[in-house]
Amino acid sequence: MSSDARLLIRGARLPNSGDRTSDILIEGSRISQISDHIDAQPGVQVEPARGALVLPGLVDAHCHLDKTLVGQPWHSHVSGSGVADRVRIDHSLRRGLGMPSVQNTSALVAQMIANGTTGARTHTEIDSEVGIAGVEAVAEVAKKFEGAITIQQVAFPQSGMLREPGIDRLLRDAIELGATVIGGLDPAGAENDPVEHLDRVFALAHDTGCGIDLHLHDAGELGAWELELICERTRVESMAGKVNISHAIALAQVGDARQGKIIDNLADAGISLTTCVVHNNPPLPMKRIVEAGVLLSGGNDSIRNTWSSLGTGDMLERAWIFAMRGDLRTDSELALALEIASNNGLRLLGEEGPVGVAVGAMANFFLVDAVNTGDAIARRPDRKLVVHAGNIVSTTGVDTSL
Ligand SMILES: [Zn+2]
Repeated sequence: MSSDARLLIRGARLPNSGDRTSDILIEGSRISQISDHIDAQPGVQVEPARGALVLPGLVDAHCHLDKTLVGQPWHSHVSGSGVADRVRIDHSLRRGLGMPSVQNTSALVAQMIANGTTGARTHTEIDSEVGIAGVEAVAEVAKKFEGAITIQQVAFPQSGMLREPGIDRLLRDAIELGATVIGGLDPAGAENDPVEHLDRVFALAHDTGCGIDLHLHDAGELGAWELELICERTRVESMAGKVNISHAIALAQVGDARQGKIIDNLADAGISLTTCVVHNNPPLPMKRIVEAGVLLSGGNDSIRNTWSSLGTGDMLERAWIFAMRGDLRTDSELALALEIASNNGLRLLGEEGPVGVAVGAMANFFLVDAVNTGDAIARRPDRKLVVHAGNIVSTTGVDTSL
């Protein structure tokens, strides 16, 4: 045990270990040892787990922290149909609702931490009217909660790249403020010029060294064609491992053979996917995607905002939705739902080493009174203790990071 040892979790049950308990030692920000018994050295904080289940830190790989109304009075949803309509409604309401708001975003992030979320990729809206105010607000919140959660910002042109005056400059300003990923939106359905949209997004990514994360809601054959177009572009631009596609619902709508071909194409091009299974979005073939070697992470997307009144920010709740909508039933299938809601998201955020509750992994985990992973997803009990990068950031479901 080195002098860097600082936290010892005593008597936790690892997933798939039945009733057997283990001690977990954290040195610096990583797990250094897992064993039946580890002696506590002087100066090391000992936290008794009392047989609680320890699960990997949850990661919300797709959310919109700048848009949330958490902490505000109930907002009655104004109906719209389709993405363009919802963008229009959102823009007509956002100023009156005080968005973006450091206060709202902070309230949501505190709630996420208390629920065991240790990392998030958030798509922050940028357009000619709101400018980079959202990026500034989220950056302020990320700084406030530094040490308790890792927040990665996507500079997201929600209103498109092609029709918004000065959007390139605004996206570059967002990157200077700390955004590390360039977003995009339905190259065909929203922009009506998929080649030009991808030209702009990939050029900006090349110039700045950023990754790419595209919202792709376009359905059916159109969306499937765009998935292939993005695969081709990613190869040509040598961007394997740096391109993520969110939603990709077309993949759930094409025939079996076509679906298999596109998934193989994504795997070969080194493109990852993020699913949210929002409202009536068709669930992706999660097992098939993961078995093909495509990194599949998960997110909440809207959490109580003008797009949806639902959502708590709890990724265990989202794992429940993945399981329910994706027909995941067995213990191993439920473990897959958790993997999508936790470790795969951490990999998307850039972790290249071991993940999960494992030696060498970041010490991101939480304790919960549950029999196993499936039981935790089914009942979603209070998170008893949350650890991020070796820091205890929440106890008994109460945020302690402020
Ligand atoms: Zn989104």
